[in-house]
Amino acid sequence: MNNDGKPTLEAIASLCKRRGFIFQSSEIYGGINGFWDYGPLGCELKRNIREAWWRDVVRNRDDVVGLDAAIIMHPRVWEASGHVGGFQDPMVDCRACKKRFKADNLCEEQGLKLAKTETGFALPAGVVCPACGAAELTEPRAFNLMFESYAGPVQDESAKVYLRPETAQGIFVQFGNVMDTARVKVPFGIAQIGKAFRNEINPRNFTFRSREFEQMELEYFVRPGTDAQWHAYWVQERMKWYEAIGLPASRLRQYVYRPDELAHYASACVDVMYDFPFGSQELEGIAARGDFDLRRHQE
Ligand SMILES: [Zn+2]
Repeated sequence: MNNDGKPTLEAIASLCKRRGFIFQSSEIYGGINGFWDYGPLGCELKRNIREAWWRDVVRNRDDVVGLDAAIIMHPRVWEASGHVGGFQDPMVDCRACKKRFKADNLCEEQGLKLAKTETGFALPAGVVCPACGAAELTEPRAFNLMFESYAGPVQDESAKVYLRPETAQGIFVQFGNVMDTARVKVPFGIAQIGKAFRNEINPRNFTFRSREFEQMELEYFVRPGTDAQWHAYWVQERMKWYEAIGLPASRLRQYVYRPDELAHYASACVDVMYDFPFGSQELEGIAARGDFDLRRHQE
């Protein structure tokens, strides 16, 4: 409990373990940071949420179809999507205790702001290591968040592949096949549920920032010029859905992105936020991405 009597995230994590919902992965070997196992009750709960989403977003609509794409795709998918060059977090190392941190979080926690430079990022003066207190941090360096592996027996650059960091790209690269075979016409959507992987520098906040996670993704394709109206429609639909599965409206909020917070290709973005006892956290993001993704895969 906090001083104000609200349960902390730690208290909830320990309750989840005692009741058989969520265990630390590989716990008998000391655990592995950023990975979680769903126990007997947890996997039923997760399955219920997944099935409710699939029923309401795919089966009960005649304008959405499903897809189940492979986790490993051609590496050029991730070059086109911008993930090979751009899916990076600035990180710093502590020279004293050798721990590694996300530079933006680190600055934020100390009431400072990470500065952008022409070539990357620069730490503001006065930032110290949160673990040991030393003012001996390296300059921020880009760290790609994609897990890498090799397809086939030869482990060289030409065989390098990535575990997908998001489920969206599988949808974009199969857009043409789905259009040709599923008798769908714009506006329509393609949905997918599946695992995604991000090699987070500091996994934390229980299952909120983990290295392996499951996403439920809908990409809804609309005619140019109708983006704003469809975006508003989906924000309303999604808010209604959370209430329909039992989340109280009083704890649901929308976070509307300011223009300077949007990705360069997006015209609008709203996060659905839920007021947990330990603070507000994002349940999902709803973005109007324009034709950025489909265009990139045609170039
Ligand atoms: Zn340190």
